[in-house]
Amino acid sequence: MKSVGRKDTAPEVAVRRYLHRHGLRYRLHVRDLPGTPDIVLPRYRTAIYVHGCFWHGHDCKHGSVQARTNREFWRSKIAANQERDDRKAKALTELGWTVQVIWECESGRVAALDALIKRILHSRPRPERT
Ligand SMILES: [Zn+2]
Repeated sequence: MKSVGRKDTAPEVAVRRYLHRHGLRYRLHVRDLPGTPDIVLPRYRTAIYVHGCFWHGHDCKHGSVQARTNREFWRSKIAANQERDDRKAKALTELGWTVQVIWECESGRVAALDALIKRILHSRPRPERT
């Protein structure tokens, strides 16, 4: 099982498709931003992370599935992921970006995707720092 390999996961593709269909243009895996966000909308100064429920410890039935073996190993791995997520989000926020998270389990639900778009449209870009 890999957690770091960057690839186009099905949830990511679903979110991108939805954004695109609603006229939102994005860039992918932007390396010059902290943490290489999955999806970046420069116009809204918004970075989106599409988080896998298990890997990032979502409070849902997928996220709370207990690994059968090596429980302690997985628990600390997920805790480390969450810590890293927090760090990345903080770094982006400090640069004036808005960070949005959409969970794997939400990525196929129209209501959740609509809510994400609403949050993006409502986030006003802050003035550039000099
Ligand atoms: Zn979930």
